[in-house]
Amino acid sequence: MEIFKQIAPLKAFINAQKQRGQSIGLVPTMGALHAGHLSLIEASKRQNSITVCSIFVNPTQFNNPADLLKYPRTFDKDTLLLEKVECDAVFYPDSSEMYPETSLIKFDFSHLDKVMEGKFRPGHFSGVALVVSKLFNIVEPDHAYFGQKDWQQFTVIRQLVEELKFNLTLHSQPTSREADGLAMSSRNLRLNEDQRKNATVFYQALLAAKNALHAGKSITEARVLVKEIVEQKTEIKLEYFEVAESKNLNLLENVKDSDQPIMCIAGFVGEIRLIDNMFLN
Ligand code: AMP
Repeated sequence: MEIFKQIAPLKAFINAQKQRGQSIGLVPTMGALHAGHLSLIEASKRQNSITVCSIFVNPTQFNNPADLLKYPRTFDKDTLLLEKVECDAVFYPDSSEMYPETSLIKFDFSHLDKVMEGKFRPGHFSGVALVVSKLFNIVEPDHAYFGQKDWQQFTVIRQLVEELKFNLTLHSQPTSREADGLAMSSRNLRLNEDQRKNATVFYQALLAAKNALHAGKSITEARVLVKEIVEQKTEIKLEYFEVAESKNLNLLENVKDSDQPIMCIAGFVGEIRLIDNMFLN
């Protein structure tokens, strides 16, 4: 497996592969890799001759400096995992390589970045769009892979790709979960034993809300139920529970108004912020 810290040699590698007619799959990550990330690598390997995984904790998408500082970094372990699944190349740049100068560009995705994550993490999706645009321009992949776990991120990136005409196909992969249902996340590494046990309530609350909505309860009633379930655990605080039209993230008042509703949840376990989601149908 090739490891690149600089853009120029990575581009030379990619160009050589393309000249040989190889297709390129890209999996952008922030590292601290888990089975969810590896499922994206595996999806890419099934569809491409060469898979590139990027590992970059992107400062411009963090609206909370403490979160950026404490974000887990486990590069040595990550490379072992990537070797095991036979990833072809890793792009592991420093901030100075990705941002040689302070960036002036800001993205505004209108409604898409004003709700849910966008409402509680102002500027987050601008930073995501910036780094993903850079990665798309550097790697020029044929296919790029993202997780359903970050559904709003996927929706924003889809808009980016459509509007800016990036010449690639996007893929969203299902959320990988721990045995108790907790969505895998790099941030789970920061949970202590009790917090880890309790963190499964986000998944349980989504299941309960799904049942309640299928049984004809309103979204407002489902939100009350979710808050009750989540906050019965110590140290857990609900930030939001929303049901949205999955295509355009319009928030719903009534699930009957939607073709394909998705339930999205975010909350804190102590000071660690976790998100999850589930399609209703
Ligand atoms: P991150 O390293 O958290 O920025 O995530 C990198 C990519 O992995 C993103 O496209 C995420 O949506 C995806 N991802 C994160 N967690 C999971 C998971 N549990 N299952 C599937 N994909 C995931």
